[in-house]
Amino acid sequence: MTFVQVALDVPLGICFDYRAADATPDDIGRLVVVPFGRGYRVGVITGVSDAASVAEARIRSVLRIARHLPHIPAEIRDLADFCSRYYHHPLGEVLLNALPTALRRTDATALVPARAWRLTATGAALDPSSIPARATIQRALFERLRSGDLVRPADVTAIGPSASRVLRVFVHSGWAEEISAPDDATPQVHALQVSQHSHKLTDEQAVAVAAITESMGGYAPILLAGVTGSGKTEVYLQAIAAVVAHGGQALLLVPEINLTPQLYSRVTDRFGADRVVSLHSGLAEGERLERWLRAARGEAAIVVGTRLAIFTPMPRLALVVVDEEHDTSYKQQEGHRYHARDLALVRAKSRGVPVVLGSATPSLETVRHADDGRYRRLPLRVRAGGSVPRVRILNTRPLGPNEWLHPAAAEALSDSLARGEQSLVFLNRRGYAPTLLCNHCGWVAPCHRCSARLTWHQGARKLRCHHCGHEAPPPRVCPSCGSQDLRPLGQGTERLEEQLAVRFPTARIARVDRDTTRRKDAFDALRDRVHAREIDLLVGTQMLAKGHDFPRLTRVVVVGADQGLFSPDYRAEERLFALLLQVAGRAGRADLPGEVLIQTGAPDHPLFAALVAQDFDRFARDQLVQRRAAGFPPFVHQALLRAEAGEESAVFAYLDEAVAAGRALGDDVTLFDPVPPLIGKVAGRWRGQLLVQSDARAALHRFLDAWLPQLASNRVRWSIDVDPLDF
Ligand code: ADP
Ligand code: ZN
Ligand code: ZN
Repeated sequence: MTFVQVALDVPLGICFDYRAADATPDDIGRLVVVPFGRGYRVGVITGVSDAASVAEARIRSVLRIARHLPHIPAEIRDLADFCSRYYHHPLGEVLLNALPTALRRTDATALVPARAWRLTATGAALDPSSIPARATIQRALFERLRSGDLVRPADVTAIGPSASRVLRVFVHSGWAEEISAPDDATPQVHALQVSQHSHKLTDEQAVAVAAITESMGGYAPILLAGVTGSGKTEVYLQAIAAVVAHGGQALLLVPEINLTPQLYSRVTDRFGADRVVSLHSGLAEGERLERWLRAARGEAAIVVGTRLAIFTPMPRLALVVVDEEHDTSYKQQEGHRYHARDLALVRAKSRGVPVVLGSATPSLETVRHADDGRYRRLPLRVRAGGSVPRVRILNTRPLGPNEWLHPAAAEALSDSLARGEQSLVFLNRRGYAPTLLCNHCGWVAPCHRCSARLTWHQGARKLRCHHCGHEAPPPRVCPSCGSQDLRPLGQGTERLEEQLAVRFPTARIARVDRDTTRRKDAFDALRDRVHAREIDLLVGTQMLAKGHDFPRLTRVVVVGADQGLFSPDYRAEERLFALLLQVAGRAGRADLPGEVLIQTGAPDHPLFAALVAQDFDRFARDQLVQRRAAGFPPFVHQALLRAEAGEESAVFAYLDEAVAAGRALGDDVTLFDPVPPLIGKVAGRWRGQLLVQSDARAALHRFLDAWLPQLASNRVRWSIDVDPLDF
């Protein structure tokens, strides 16, 4: 008897045995539909054996092995295996969640092979003239079958409405048989003609492209450290061109949906739309499946995708590129909490291909690897298309309480307006005001479901919670003292837009944040208006910071960046620096020189000195010195145990027990005291967390292997986050 081992999307770290009489080792990696409980599930075959690990009588049979679909190749199964061990997440969940949804549903037609018919030996031996000439349908169908091609349902209906009935008779008589249509043949690999409207490379770009292409064929981690506008994308495109010219495939990871269309069109302009697919979570199910299949069958030479694309099977993968490698959207924040940038390195290594990490502000983890010589560093120090913008720091301490715009910033914006150039005013907080305040007693509107305040949205006339989505009309009077003197306190982008309209009445202003771009395509429409010069002033959050090329944009004013300077999160400065440099990078990209003005109440903070000098290396060096001294990553390795429950006491009782269980395992790791996260209650659920840390990665994982099995609980929901980014 033959059995298959199947990984299923269930939270158990085991594979399940099923009978499959006709299974062969070639089926390893194939999708399979199996009975599970009272229903059916899709799984991936991870092994084929003659013996089962449980009593044979209890083993059920597979329903269907999807032999018409591409295998999940060993490379992807190994990657899933790695994730399962490293992120301590069940293998089945990792594997199945890496697939397009259309392949995970048992009712999905994708799992049923296309039907087709052919003649049996008996049928082939028949004399065609034995079929009467007036039986036209019989004759036509028989001739069609005799041609040797597979006959598919559409061919049958084309012959005539009664042809399918005739076909059933043929099958019944043993002349024809139904088979599953085989996997679409692997297409012929053609070296791709690359259209040559590419730029003439700068010297630094040429060195980088040469270094990448020379390392093809072996594992080579490369940091492409290029200032904004230095032409990193051009380097990616030319390296990719070298790959596809030899029939290889390239995977280009990008941070998030917003960025995808713009970069995607640059890629399709260069390589042709028929050889490129984009993969991201915004796709309809069928669309995502079709693109995934084109990549997995090797038809698409280039995949441009967000973090989930790291799991795409690509039989001829020869290069991996991670654009904006420092971007935190590469980290999956729920379920299987993987980091796609880190997995890009794992995959490139197992595959033996180069991996290029590109950024103007690489993560400190990556900087450290480059410093240690583990990654090769390729710098791009000059802007390809123009000059680097000047950065000025504006001290807001001398300003009055209602003076939200520094006089120098106001002057700069007027100047840009007068010249007909565009400006960007940046504030990383949406809504009208972060709180509604009672001017009489000091009451501020809280979210009753979260330990957070409600944000006032003036246009919608609603108080909204940015943590749980709760929405409420404003109270008419203060619930605490009855006063009617309720006022918005503080500044969000909505208010900033209003203030700018008062200050610059002739300016055409557009706001870009999650509230104004909720509708599909709203962002593209705004971008078109900016390009058509219908906008003078852009107001927005970090949605505007990334990768958008606005050629007429010369000035950037940053209002209120100070929250990031004094945050308890040790990564806050790293993020703020990256964000500010990225926002600054929007200014003066083409022939117009740019200027960036940053308002702050802490102008002497060392972060700003590095920013004015636009010296990322210095900033990174300082940060790494501090991190080493304080014992923070990347010099230690961390995992975070999170728990949540309806009762605060249940959360902390659970975490206290977890600490005790952990300490009993020895002192290879440091266990910190359980604490609430920044927002201790969200949507009525209390949260708590416990940090585990070690100098050695192996020690941390040994500890987790022993500790996690003891943490089961039915009173709290818990999860483990390896290399956590958010606390
Ligand atoms: P990055 O990705 O580093 O921010 P991009 O690749 O987007 O930079 O390039 C910035 C701008 O410079 C783009 O408009 C691009 O077309 C242009 N550019 C890139 N390389 C060159 C080059 N070698 N010569 C002229 N312009 C270039
Ligand atoms: Zn009050
Ligand atoms: Zn809330």
